[in-house]
Amino acid sequence: MADSDALPATTDRAPAVELTQVTPQVFELRLPIPWEDTHVNCFLFPDGDRVDMIDCGMRSEESFAAIREAVERLAGPRGRLRRLVVTHIHPDHYGGAGQLTERYGVELYLHRLEVPMVHPRYLEIEQLVEEVGSHLAIHGVPQAEAEFLKNASRGFRQFVKPAPPTLQLDGSELVQLGRRRLRVEWTPGHSPGHVCLFDPGSRILFAGDQLLPNNTPNIGQHPQSTPNPLDDYLAGLERLVALRPSLVLPGHGRPFHDAAGRAAVMVEHHRRRKDQIEEVIGDRELDGWRVAIAIWGRRQNLHDMRMALQEGLAHLQSMSLAGRLEKLARPGAVTWRRPSPAA
Ligand SMILES: [Zn+2]
Ligand SMILES: [Zn+2]
Repeated sequence: MADSDALPATTDRAPAVELTQVTPQVFELRLPIPWEDTHVNCFLFPDGDRVDMIDCGMRSEESFAAIREAVERLAGPRGRLRRLVVTHIHPDHYGGAGQLTERYGVELYLHRLEVPMVHPRYLEIEQLVEEVGSHLAIHGVPQAEAEFLKNASRGFRQFVKPAPPTLQLDGSELVQLGRRRLRVEWTPGHSPGHVCLFDPGSRILFAGDQLLPNNTPNIGQHPQSTPNPLDDYLAGLERLVALRPSLVLPGHGRPFHDAAGRAAVMVEHHRRRKDQIEEVIGDRELDGWRVAIAIWGRRQNLHDMRMALQEGLAHLQSMSLAGRLEKLARPGAVTWRRPSPAA
């Protein structure tokens, strides 16, 4: 899609701006998204007539208007947005970045592993579509379905206007947001350069999509993922729990307190999924596509089907690294089976 100034609108009418103070000097702005979560939570940190922000919602006129109004309410008519830290480049968290840098000149902070994903995903996507196509084929997706599935993300581009980062993060940086100084916690898995932000003083964790109150974040292996995203994700959870957060402010859903309890639910979910996969494989040798269909069934929605495959592959990879499965690889095909008993 050519970059145009016509922005997608999520609704016809302008809803009330959903801005609430969640803790001293931190405001949550809920922005609408057209997916199952319905809203993404962004966080605003006012300081005089400047406002800093974590995540910015998708690219839409409605989001932009809500952000502008929130900034004005918090910082007065001369209020300006100064700094934007994006947890990861999914459309609901990053999509509006281009609008904000263009119209406000904000500083954009992004983890460096997210940066190289932007161009192939949102600007010139043909090469990535081909790479996804061969990835699907290698993992057993029949050709006709692979043709459809490899194109399943094209539509997301309309929700994103990319912007180059002003600062690339590695993790562990202290960044000033409003009157708070937060530490960048790199938590790869859901996306290679996903970051959370932690306030060591008040032990508040801004969790992005890493730790959600109601959903399991999608952890998928695909051409842009880290090679072993599930173990990366679980290791990140462990690091976050060790911080002993007292309050978690997630990217979707309501704030919650029991980070350790919620992380334990995630760990258990993935543990059970691995058991289920082991059972499905039994004494057979299967490709990722067959495993995904056995676990999740066939879905109407192409995007869901691709996510299921990628999620299955993330588990299979983790299991084969742990020696629970053997991964057999040859040009054009990868399959998995239980380890053959030692001769
Ligand atoms: Zn995400
Ligand atoms: Zn999200």
